[in-house]
Amino acid sequence: MELAAARRDLHETLLQMVSDRLVVGSAGNASVRLGDGSLVVSAGGRLYRHLSPNDHPLVDVDTGEVRNGLPATSELALHLAVIRAFPDVNAVVHTHSPYAAGWSVARLDLDFVCNENIGPAGERILVTDPYAPPGSTDLATAAVATLQRQPGSRACLLANHGPLTIGTSLEAAYTVAQQVEWVAQVSYVARAVGRVHVIPPEHQDAIGATYGFTVARPHPHP
Ligand SMILES: [Zn+2]
Repeated sequence: MELAAARRDLHETLLQMVSDRLVVGSAGNASVRLGDGSLVVSAGGRLYRHLSPNDHPLVDVDTGEVRNGLPATSELALHLAVIRAFPDVNAVVHTHSPYAAGWSVARLDLDFVCNENIGPAGERILVTDPYAPPGSTDLATAAVATLQRQPGSRACLLANHGPLTIGTSLEAAYTVAQQVEWVAQVSYVARAVGRVHVIPPEHQDAIGATYGFTVARPHPHP
């Protein structure tokens, strides 16, 4: 992907995160990999509507060096760790969407309950454990470990924080972020009015076959 187009797509994604109410203020962040070993990451600490696409910094994936643009998001280590760990992943989206964040505070995994679980692609959307503060390398380590616990999954919940989603493109990762929030809302409503009926594993697999993916299953927690 070409740099100017990547910066434009990233900027539009950040503005959409705000308008979709997946974040408030300057919260949340996103990144997209270029083919030359670099990553465009969202600029940190400013309202997105006050930024322009070229403000988003370009970062060397191997060294972490910021080549140009404004200072990167405080979650740069998180983006670099995920991009380095998963060579087939080209984009990372992190939001604070409220229902998914609520489940992350309760430290409850989200189950496979509806069609929107197709995006996250896992039997569960796992919560990171142990807790790690925002911006820390421990958070980056926990996120990678949680995604690796369920190989093929495209989402996890950062404990007491919010969801992190991945994809082969920014658009794909962003759609998963919307789907995670949808699953969290649906699960919350189901708990409020009755109980959560999880779709049985064989039916999850049938849904995966219909939509062309394999449902990721978690390894036991170490
Ligand atoms: Zn965050």
